[in-house]
Amino acid sequence: MLSEFDLIKQYFRRARAGHAILGIGDDCALLAPTPGMHTAISTDLLIEGRHFFAGADAGMLGHKSLAVNLSDLAAMGAKPVGFTLALSLPGADPEWLEAFSNGMFALADLHDCELIGGDTTRGPLAICITVFGEIAPGHALRRAAARAGHDIWISGTLGDARLALAGYWKEIALDAGALALAAPRMHLPTPRVELGRALAALPIAHAALDISDGLAGDLRHILDASKVGATLDIDALPAGPALAQQPLALRRRFTLAGGDDYELCFTAAAADRAAVLAAAGSAGTPVTRVGTIDAQPGLRLVDAAGEPVEMDVQGWDHFTGE
Ligand code: ADP
Ligand code: MG
Repeated sequence: MLSEFDLIKQYFRRARAGHAILGIGDDCALLAPTPGMHTAISTDLLIEGRHFFAGADAGMLGHKSLAVNLSDLAAMGAKPVGFTLALSLPGADPEWLEAFSNGMFALADLHDCELIGGDTTRGPLAICITVFGEIAPGHALRRAAARAGHDIWISGTLGDARLALAGYWKEIALDAGALALAAPRMHLPTPRVELGRALAALPIAHAALDISDGLAGDLRHILDASKVGATLDIDALPAGPALAQQPLALRRRFTLAGGDDYELCFTAAAADRAAVLAAAGSAGTPVTRVGTIDAQPGLRLVDAAGEPVEMDVQGWDHFTGE
């Protein structure tokens, strides 16, 4: 049976030199921040049975645990630097640990983000990662920065993660091909780090967040923080390739209030459309303009013809379960 220290040494401590002055092995890690930069910090906790199915693939779980954290850095426009990992494990299963750490490090290496410490304990399976990033002062993409007249943009596509969940839950009959197409969006989200950084580097303030609980619910956070409203063209929302094959009503519902998309929703002045497209091009991430920020509070939905559409669109809430 692996001891706690053997486990850390074998699966989480790595020889490669990274950003940290001191990494895993002492009471604290030591980071040397780039002079003049702000530190961006975010934490996400994933619990078995709540955020992922019991028995979920360990490699994909390693990826997703870090991806949801990197997505928060992306939403702020920050460059990833390092992260800590607090793990509660029912046991020291070498196969699970190998797959989990490989999945996690593959994504970490892609973003040059170093594991600098953590904690390991026996208990129900839970994974808590805290990420550290850097952002130039005044450049962070803040939720309070949306202004009336700004365009609303979305990266990538929406709804396939929710479609996969509907398939697993048997909410809808989803054939094996459609489920296979949608499932990676649920298990292996892509944090839009390059896009967030490219947007933050522009000399104009944008509001941004990452969509984890559904666009309609998450956009409300920008609207509330910025004290504005919005009109969304629901038929402009880019559906994922699997969802795009589904009927209109489902497409509207899951693009608008799906969840687990980890795409960025951001605002930019209409005069900056070309600059936004250039930033998206340089990041290699497609973006779509889906609506406008209004001075009038509230969220209004219109269809492709500009006609108002009534839909009940709440985001996911872990406490009310709605
Ligand atoms: P402490 O007693 O100070 O909590 P630990 O014995 O828990 O320290 O951890 C020893 C070292 O291993 C520390 O540097 C800690 O950051 C690191 N560590 C523990 N668990 C993990 C983990 N899951 N991933 C990365 N580093 C870890
Ligand atoms: Mg400890």
